[in-house]
Amino acid sequence: MRSGSAIRLYNTLTCQVAEFTAASPPHVGMYTCGPTVYADQHIGNMRAYVFADTLKRVLSWKGFKVRHVINITDVGHLTSDADEGEDKLEVAARRLHKNAWAIAERYTSEFKTDLERLRIIEPDVWPEATAHIPQMISFAEALEDHRWCYRLPSGLYFDTSKDSRYGKLARLDLSRQLAGARVEVAEGKQHPADFAVWRTSAPGENRQMEWESPWGRGAPGWHLECSVMSMEYLGPHFDIHTGGVDHIPVHHTNEIAQSEAYLADGRPWVRWWLHGEFINLSGAKISKSAGGGVLVSDLIDRGYHPLVYRYLLLQAHYRSQTEFSWEAMASAEAGLRRLLDRYAAARSEPADQLSAARAGHLKSFDQAVSDDLNMPRALAAVIAASRDDRLSDADLTALASQFDQVLAIGLTDLSPADLDLKPSDTAITEREVEDLVARRNAARAARDFATSDQIRAELTAAGVTVEDHAGGESTWRWN
Ligand SMILES: [Zn+2]
Repeated sequence: MRSGSAIRLYNTLTCQVAEFTAASPPHVGMYTCGPTVYADQHIGNMRAYVFADTLKRVLSWKGFKVRHVINITDVGHLTSDADEGEDKLEVAARRLHKNAWAIAERYTSEFKTDLERLRIIEPDVWPEATAHIPQMISFAEALEDHRWCYRLPSGLYFDTSKDSRYGKLARLDLSRQLAGARVEVAEGKQHPADFAVWRTSAPGENRQMEWESPWGRGAPGWHLECSVMSMEYLGPHFDIHTGGVDHIPVHHTNEIAQSEAYLADGRPWVRWWLHGEFINLSGAKISKSAGGGVLVSDLIDRGYHPLVYRYLLLQAHYRSQTEFSWEAMASAEAGLRRLLDRYAAARSEPADQLSAARAGHLKSFDQAVSDDLNMPRALAAVIAASRDDRLSDADLTALASQFDQVLAIGLTDLSPADLDLKPSDTAITEREVEDLVARRNAARAARDFATSDQIRAELTAAGVTVEDHAGGESTWRWN
């Protein structure tokens, strides 16, 4: 193990920052809830994976041997996380008039491409839910045998009232949930928090993805998938489970309930639960991805190297909410460019002897990453090193290779010129739209309708709709 600071992490389960210890060091088993592959993952979704990757890179850099699993949810995730609605894959299949299996395959492959673009290290295992149905059925049978579940026409449900520790991760107040229970009784659920481990297809329902089970033809519950696939590849207990903060109240709460019921050994199923915060994308409307958020491919179309986005994410602590804006992208690009300017110019044979100045920068970096993954402070150390003229090129090259094992922002292999992607022809910036709309308003005011119509056509081609209102005002929106 690397000497230096011990790694301290915030554990959602205990609400505390504490020193990380693995059950069998140097090995660490780590599970990350993966995407539901019914649509493109926008850059907000990708924050959870950059966070998990950063955690894994810090652990590896400190000397742990991480075995990482990211699952692919290709069935069972309903349109509401709280077990309501329809299967997202089936809805997408109907809407796109496509086969659900083909949709899953397409979006799985796009997700993997985005991970690669963001230099997220591939997990050791990529289990797909649909490839683990028999294991899920036997897990659910074991739960039923031990009376943790009850049957309804719509499936097999986990009885949360039998679990005295239910909701401990999210500190749920079940008495408040019980008070609201009356409206839910019609469904047949005994408690609003009860959840399906198996969903039986309704009579006459025609699902593309369904399997025979002791509870009729149907599909597994989303939470069950993660419990089963994580144990399959990491053993019954493992060290770390990660996901977005949105997973805390329902998905991870239910994973814990059914896993601890299944294991019944009185031990916590997973000791470390880490959650990444959201990035708010509302300031980033973009024409191409109708309805969804900004995609990594949209960043590229706008001329941004994907690692600029990684750099932007690292500027915020993973437990802070942050805002996306094109201004923030532009300033992240300028920041990364300044670093690459210096690190690329210094690139040479790395020094193998540790100069005192270099050791100091490495120590600041180590302290920052070990302090609950404080990447903003780690970046400050990288910037400080780039400005320290006591460092030789060989020193800086040696530091870059250490820093980049954790940061993966191209310090060892990119040059500033690599950031100069050409924006694609279809990309139009918000400022350009504003300019065109202003010119069109001026033309309308001057009753020059030929020019006004021509500008409208130009905007339509760029994916912008202009609406004229009484009094000469007009507004616009991305399509
Ligand atoms: Zn999960």
